[in-house]
Amino acid sequence: MAKVVITGGAGFIGSHLCDRFIAEGDEVICLDNLITGTPDNIAHLFGHPKFKFIKYDVTEFLYVPGDVDFVLHFASPASPMDYVKYPIQTLKVGALGTHKALGLAKAKGARFLLASTSEVYGDPLVHPQSEEYWGNVNPIGIRGVYDEAKRFAEAMTMAYHRYHGLDTRIARIFNTYGPRMRIDDGRAIPAFMTQALKGEDITVFGDGSQTRSICYIDDLVEGIFKLLMSDYVYPINLGNPDEVTILELAMEIKELAGSNSKIVFKPLPPDDPKVRRPDITKAREILGWEPKVSRKEGLKKTLEYFKQKLGID
Ligand code: NAD
Ligand code: UDP
Repeated sequence: MAKVVITGGAGFIGSHLCDRFIAEGDEVICLDNLITGTPDNIAHLFGHPKFKFIKYDVTEFLYVPGDVDFVLHFASPASPMDYVKYPIQTLKVGALGTHKALGLAKAKGARFLLASTSEVYGDPLVHPQSEEYWGNVNPIGIRGVYDEAKRFAEAMTMAYHRYHGLDTRIARIFNTYGPRMRIDDGRAIPAFMTQALKGEDITVFGDGSQTRSICYIDDLVEGIFKLLMSDYVYPINLGNPDEVTILELAMEIKELAGSNSKIVFKPLPPDDPKVRRPDITKAREILGWEPKVSRKEGLKKTLEYFKQKLGID
């Protein structure tokens, strides 16, 4: 039985991780300032004897009483709309928050896992992206606040590993989706699903030829768990290589929702990556992990969640 600290545990991915560790019989301390997360995501865990929620900004000094076995640093605004709205907070949580979370892990002799991102590859010039690629990031663009914060976070994590001998893991997470995404977080899947279910126009940015490779949350959680339990310290891609254009994705969601919505085209935001697909050779070989949930199955489950949220039968 382990004691696990999860920063950002009231967010989309963090809350699923809280569930996973509670299901393992572990003790979970969730630290979250609720800037983009919500207590609704963890409400079912309140009152559980092994779950504790502390509303806290992890850019401040972190103190947790007693032993800690694992620190999972997931706190950060994560959707382009959120990090454009909270640029300074995003930089701070990626830099200062990562430093504080590493400091906590060091003080407790705990293993540390960083939630990094495919955004460290920026608008990639190499396709698919393997961990060896150093990326193509515009440091001063609107996405730079997120991308550079995560690149700094990776550098800081490796420095703690090399200089302090801290036991660290780095997950480069590619687009993940599923229940508990915020309805209004501006990401493609919540936007398209909400629009399709309400019969509103489905807003595809650009001509929709840009690609993403989307991973269902249950698969990602399994990958994070396997990475944490492995002894691999270098960054590893976790995502589903099943690549799709954004226009195809919009059409699939419209069809699954049985919607009459019109697909409309809006300007492409600056620095929006044109392609993205993980090379998951390392995850397969080192972790014995690969995604299992098909796009259709995952989208159906997610659509059910949004229907429920919107009160639609
Ligand atoms: P989310 O916004 O749902 O969750 C992030 C959580 O962090 C929120 O609950 C928010 O309130 C909390 N938070 C932010 N700043 C904080 C601070 N200073 N102190 C305490 N809590 C803070 O986003 P998500 O999609 O669940 O992403 C979780 C993590 O995974 C992020 O680090 C993100 O960069 C990473 N990630 C996500 C994806 C994805 O597709 N969802 C892809 C790559 C990386
Ligand atoms: N996108 C879109 N319409 C929307 C929201 C997003 O066409 O209403 C596009 C966006 O420009 C990007 C892709 O969908 O090309 C994925 O966007 P998302 O915000 O989900 O993730 P990210 O860009 O961080 O991969």
